[in-house]
Amino acid sequence: MDGVNYDDALMPPDPFAGDPNDPASFLEPDDDYPEGPVSDEERVLLREDLTNVRRFRELLEPRGVRGISMLCDDCDELHYYDWPIILANITTLLSGDAVPVHEPGAAPDPDFYVSWEYCAGYADAVDWIEQEHRANPRFRF
Ligand SMILES: [Zn+2]
Repeated sequence: MDGVNYDDALMPPDPFAGDPNDPASFLEPDDDYPEGPVSDEERVLLREDLTNVRRFRELLEPRGVRGISMLCDDCDELHYYDWPIILANITTLLSGDAVPVHEPGAAPDPDFYVSWEYCAGYADAVDWIEQEHRANPRFRF
């Protein structure tokens, strides 16, 4: 009998492996963050998340964006996180405590939330524009 052999070795590599822009390490499944002190590696990722989220907020809050939407691994639905909640969650993780993934459903308006990828792309674009502007002060996007 020729069955299909699902060999793990044939699985494509994780496209985000080793990528510093791996989206949202602070919301990865619980087994990545067992309770107790976080590892040095996790700490580095969380600090990056913290830096990124602060920057995203700085850029997007003035435009009316209230936070980030994330697909929840547990219930397969989008959850909406306000900026202060995201920052508090990351800070809590950094201190080694577990974070409840499910926020109470306050029926947030999805129009005011964007994805992590959106934030990252937006921040990249702003960086690029700023670089161009420094190189050529008359540059207008
Ligand atoms: Zn959920």
